[in-house]
Amino acid sequence: MSANKVYIIGAGPGDPGLITVKGREILRQADAIIYDYLVDKRLLDQAREDAESICCDRLGKKKFRDGFLRDQEKISRLIVRKAREGKKVVRLRNGDSSIFSRVSQELDTLVKNKIEFEIVPGVTAASAASALSGIPLTDRKLASSCVFVTGHEDPGKKESSVDWNKIAGSGTIVLYMAVENISKIAKELIKSGKSADTPVAAVSNAGRIDQKTAKAALKSIAKAVRKEKITAPAIFIIGEVVKLEKEFNWLRRSRKVLFTGLSEERFFTRGVYFHLPLIKIEPLEDYSAIDNNLRNITGFDWIVFTSRYGVEYFFKRFKARGYDARALSGIKIAAIGNSTKAKLEDFGILPDLMPKEESSAGLLNEFKKIDIKDKKIFLPRSDISDKGLRDGLQDLGVRVTAAVVYKNVGQKDLPDLNLSYFDEVMFTSPSGVRNFVKRYGKVPRRVKVSCIGSVTRKEAKRYGIC
Ligand code: SAH
Repeated sequence: MSANKVYIIGAGPGDPGLITVKGREILRQADAIIYDYLVDKRLLDQAREDAESICCDRLGKKKFRDGFLRDQEKISRLIVRKAREGKKVVRLRNGDSSIFSRVSQELDTLVKNKIEFEIVPGVTAASAASALSGIPLTDRKLASSCVFVTGHEDPGKKESSVDWNKIAGSGTIVLYMAVENISKIAKELIKSGKSADTPVAAVSNAGRIDQKTAKAALKSIAKAVRKEKITAPAIFIIGEVVKLEKEFNWLRRSRKVLFTGLSEERFFTRGVYFHLPLIKIEPLEDYSAIDNNLRNITGFDWIVFTSRYGVEYFFKRFKARGYDARALSGIKIAAIGNSTKAKLEDFGILPDLMPKEESSAGLLNEFKKIDIKDKKIFLPRSDISDKGLRDGLQDLGVRVTAAVVYKNVGQKDLPDLNLSYFDEVMFTSPSGVRNFVKRYGKVPRRVKVSCIGSVTRKEAKRYGIC
């Protein structure tokens, strides 16, 4: 079999939304994804369910230091092997592939092995750190040049390939991989003529929910980094442009909302949304339990969808069994919530009933107004749904068949957070509340807690966080 083409894609730093549209489209089609450890794992949710994802960490011991991966040969060999297996291979790198990423070694191997490749650019960490701290890297008055430098090299070593004398003359200096060596680098720059008072900003975890910025003069930046606990990955911006941060740091001034739900609809709303999904939706291992219901679906009078995932997984199985929306023509459909309605529309269905109040109680109130007694209702739901709706429907004399169509699991690997950084924490489900309390405990008093839906609010009250 001839080898397949390899796509080398820049994933951007931190925020999974910083990949290019082109990069994401290719990622969605890949068979094998070989990714850097700094790549946000949520990006992998874009991949096909049957795609293979391999983290470069796993290709040996963790041989990186400050963003620096040493075990390059193994990665190159793996890319070649996967391409030769006829797989559509994506090599997903942090930031942009052309900047401090050892892409040349991989390209070299691909050229030698006559494997076709395409490179898709990405947002480099310097651009993200600049945008997310409000520090333009160049400015008509303050800096007409900008240089990117690796700080990974020990500046004390004899044959340094970084000429700090030359670097010191640049308008703006951006350092990558420099947390460990910042004290030595600052001294070297001052020795090379850079003013000790040059302002410096260190931005760690740019684009991530735990992003941090520290500012100090060049002579005291190392101390500030220690004091503010700036850790890798971080970008240092050195130069007069850093003065602009005071006026342009939009993030510092914004109202910061920690949004813990799954929804992505978080733009053009008040404040900046930081997305920390506390739950994860997963398919069931086995759907055979509901096949009987699907086969006899026309026996139901209503289907009640309570979430967009219910819609998604119901139709996935429905399709797998060879049915489509036409098979539901005689059945009435109810939906709770706008996103549930929108998902139904994707499948060509406009719900017959949608309660104004987006909750089980809202739906029950609507059902009370119509003749629902003895009607048969199918209720696709998650494995941890609260029983309130089913019981409420039964109280109305309805014959309910509730069926689990997806799983709601807690997110692992949640980052450490300074909750006081946020102005508001928003919950959208009772399971989100429980997972939050398990991982973070209480919400600091000055931070507002808001809940979508009365069931969520009740759970938050039960745990004493609102
Ligand atoms: N190719 C990448 C750089 C890889 S080197 C790019 O274009 O961005 C790894 C270094 O990138 C880290 O040590 C750090 O200096 C920087 N970096 C990567 N992600 C970062 C992030 N989210 N915030 C700040 N710096 C980051």
